[in-house]
Amino acid sequence: MPHLHTRAGRLLAGLFSLAIALALPRGAGAQSPTGDSPALTYHVELGDQADDRFHVRLVVEGLSSDSDVLQFAATAPGTYQVMDIGRFVEGLRATGADGSEIAVERVSTNQWRIASPADVREISYTVAETWDTPVPEHPVYPMAGTSIEADHVLFNAHAVLGFPTGMQDAPVRLAFDLPEGWTVGTALETDGTGMYAAEDFDFLVDSPILAGSALTVATTEVGGAPVEIYTYAKAGGIRSDMLLESMAAMLNASADFLDGLPVDRYVFLYHFEDPPKQGTPYGAWEHSYSSEYVLPEAPWSEGYGQAITDIAAHEFLHIVTPLNIHSEIIEHFDFEKPVPSRHLWLYEGVTEWGSHMVQLRAGIKPLDAYLTELVQKISADQTQFDPTYPLEKLALTSYGDEGQAQYGNIYMRGALVAGLLDIRLLELSGGEMDLQDVLLELMERYGKEEPFDDATFHQTLVDMTFPEIGDFLQRYVVAAEPLPIAEYYAKLGIDYDPAGPSFRVMEEPTPEQEALRAAWMAARPSA
Ligand SMILES: [Zn+2]
Repeated sequence: MPHLHTRAGRLLAGLFSLAIALALPRGAGAQSPTGDSPALTYHVELGDQADDRFHVRLVVEGLSSDSDVLQFAATAPGTYQVMDIGRFVEGLRATGADGSEIAVERVSTNQWRIASPADVREISYTVAETWDTPVPEHPVYPMAGTSIEADHVLFNAHAVLGFPTGMQDAPVRLAFDLPEGWTVGTALETDGTGMYAAEDFDFLVDSPILAGSALTVATTEVGGAPVEIYTYAKAGGIRSDMLLESMAAMLNASADFLDGLPVDRYVFLYHFEDPPKQGTPYGAWEHSYSSEYVLPEAPWSEGYGQAITDIAAHEFLHIVTPLNIHSEIIEHFDFEKPVPSRHLWLYEGVTEWGSHMVQLRAGIKPLDAYLTELVQKISADQTQFDPTYPLEKLALTSYGDEGQAQYGNIYMRGALVAGLLDIRLLELSGGEMDLQDVLLELMERYGKEEPFDDATFHQTLVDMTFPEIGDFLQRYVVAAEPLPIAEYYAKLGIDYDPAGPSFRVMEEPTPEQEALRAAWMAARPSA
C-alpha cells in the first residue's frame, strides 16, 4: 500500500471516527400521534448565503408550562464533545397569534425561557454556521456542524434547531428552503407536503442533510437494500462513482457478514474540501441510516479509496451496534446533560474490529494487511494512550477531560480486545462460535426497539457463551490487564514479537492451530 494509505488510514480511522449513534426505531414520522403532543414545524431558510446564517422559524402551538424553555444542544449523540450550540444563536424572539412579542430570557448557554408558552405561535432566530464562525474554545467537529457556501450546504439538525423542553419526542416537520435545482442527500423522507418528516427530534438529528448545486450521486443495492452515495468535492476531483467502485466489495461483504442488512435504505454523505478554519479538520459520524464524512480532497488513488473504505466500513457497521444492539442509556439521549453507557467497548471497539474483520473474512483485505493494522493499534495503545486505563472507565469518563484524553484508544485497545474476544470464543467453542455469531444472536434477541440492561450486559454475554467470558471481560474491559496478544494469536498459529512489534504466520503450525486459523478466517455465517 502507498504511504498515503497508512498515514491517512490511521489518521482518519483512528483519531476522528466517532462514537455512539443514537439508536432509534425507524419511523415514518410525520403523522401526529393520538396524544396531545403538538407537532413541531421548523422552517429553515438560508437568507443571504453570504451572511453564513440559517434563519429559523419554529411554528408551534399549545406549549405547556413544562415546555417553557427552548433547548439547544450542549452536545450530540456519539460526539463526546461540548458543542454548546446556543453560542451560535442570535436574535431569538417569540411571538403570539397576533404577532405580538412574548418575552424571552436567556437562562443558560443553551436555554431560552419563554414568558407565556401557551400563547406562543412562532419562535424565530438566526444561527451561525459552525464551520466559519470562530469560537474561543470547543469548536464543533466539522461532520457534526454546519456549513453554508454558495455551492453547497451541510445541515445537522442539532446545530440549527432548538426544541421546547419536554418535546424531544414530539413529531417534527422540516421545511428547508434550498436553492432551486440543488441535489439533496439525506436519509430523511418527505411527507405529502414536501416537508421532511421525522418521528421526533432525535430522528432528525440522526439524519444529516448534504445539499449542493453539483453533488455527484451513485446508487447501488446491497443485500436487497438501496444504498446511495452523495458527494460534494470542492475541486470536483472525487466523485460518487469512484467511491462506490472502491466501497462495493466492502458493502457486499458487510451484508454477508450480517446475513443481510438490517436497514431498508442507507445513505453515504461525503464532503471533500480543505479543512475548516478551526478545530478538528476531518472526521466521520455514523447515524442509523446514513453516515457523514468530511475528508481532505486529496488526489484520488487506489490507496486513498481503500483508506476511505476502511472508515466507511466502520461507520456502516454501526448499524449493528449501537443501532441494533444498545443499552437503555443511549436509547434516550439527553442533549443538555448526556449520560454515558459503560459499553463503549461494544459500540466502538467491536465496530472497529468488525470493519477490518469483515474485509479479511471476505478476502478483500489480505492477512498481512490485517496484521499490520493490528500492529498499528498495539503501538498506539502503548505510546499514544495510557494502556492501564480500563475501557469501561474510558466509557464512563468520556465526557470529561481525563476520559477525553483516552477516548481515541477505544478504536485501538477497544478493537484489540474485540479481536481477542473473537479468538477466545473460537477456542472455547472448538471453532463453532465467534464474535460475529454472538453479534448476530444479540441482534436477533434485542434489535432496534429493545435495549439491553446496561448494568447486567456482561452476565448476558456469559449466559450466551461460556463462563470464561466473564473472566475475559473483567480482565480486559472492566480492568486493564496487559493484553495477551502473543498467547491468543499463537492459538491461531501466528507468532507475535512484542519487540517489533510484529506478527508472523508460523511455518509449521500444529493441526489444532491450523484448524482454528481456518475457522477464524472463514467467511460466516454462510457455512
Ligand atoms: Zn464509530
